[in-house]
Amino acid sequence: MITVLTGGTGGAKFVDGLRQVVDPEDLTIIVNTGDDLLWWGLYVSPDIDSIIYMLSGKLSQERGWGVRGDTFHCLNAMGQLGQETWFNTGDRDLATHILRSKMLADGKTLTEVTAEMAGVLGIKSCVLPMSDSRVETRVLTPIGELSFEEYFVKRWYQDPVESVRFVGASDAEPAPGVIDAIRSADVILLAPSNPVTSIAPILAVPGIREALRESRARTVAVSPIIQGSAVSGPAGILLEADGFEVSIAGVAEFYQDFLDLLIADSQDEVAAGVLRQSGVRVHCTSTIMRTNADRVALAQVVLDAAMQPPSEKHTLEQA
Ligand code: GDP
Repeated sequence: MITVLTGGTGGAKFVDGLRQVVDPEDLTIIVNTGDDLLWWGLYVSPDIDSIIYMLSGKLSQERGWGVRGDTFHCLNAMGQLGQETWFNTGDRDLATHILRSKMLADGKTLTEVTAEMAGVLGIKSCVLPMSDSRVETRVLTPIGELSFEEYFVKRWYQDPVESVRFVGASDAEPAPGVIDAIRSADVILLAPSNPVTSIAPILAVPGIREALRESRARTVAVSPIIQGSAVSGPAGILLEADGFEVSIAGVAEFYQDFLDLLIADSQDEVAAGVLRQSGVRVHCTSTIMRTNADRVALAQVVLDAAMQPPSEKHTLEQA
């Protein structure tokens, strides 16, 4: 059993690779919901949508979000009605948001809604929100506190970041199945997602970080940082704002209390050598996922490295 913690961009590409190298039924995917927002009165869960679209072959690969081949007639019409249009919801994408909102209004939990939608779309893996409670990532900037989507999509992450907090996290509970998936996993993987706004909200739900610390499974993270910068998006800015170095060392430190192995890019071989001297296990490989072959290769290398028995693992890390 493999349990993955993920956001919706680097994470979705990584999950796509994984589902091609393992039996999808052996995969449990715990998804960040800190980016969730109410948009035109609809409940939108951007990272769950990206994972579900990816796993059902619907994700727009060019954009990296939303539904492939979608149209934007409703968005345009809402603009003509004087509504905000900065969050790009396509017409088919809207069907997901309408259905989820309806099911939530009918009294279902986000876990139930997610399972039902995944089932209808033929997804064999278990997709779990991190929590059924509302946990909202808030980004403090000089113009005030913004939701993650306001910071990221509306304002193009141009505002300096003072701090990030997860409102509601301390009162939240892990969604049903989350702790079990961590406890029963043979391998736990942290996708190359934004540590601060995709993985940290999951870790902020009481009980999840403790379960990772206590787990006997090998816990492996793939770095979203290569040669001192994020492959895409604001992970570098946010790590710095959180007091971490923007490097593979910063990523290792972020996860230090439960991390067994860090997968870094081959371009970071020198930094990996330095990190190994401080006792961190690091394996370098090509981690840029441009093509499907890249995704599959990365997933396979990560699993192979995670499964190595300790003695061989040592040899591997020195390689
Ligand atoms: P979000 O929910 O949209 O923020 O998506 P994620 O947190 O899952 O992914 C964002 C992170 O993915 C960024 O920090 C990127 O640096 C990282 N990322 C995107 N593509 C790649 C890739 O091909 N390789 C690696 N190693 N990281 C990537």
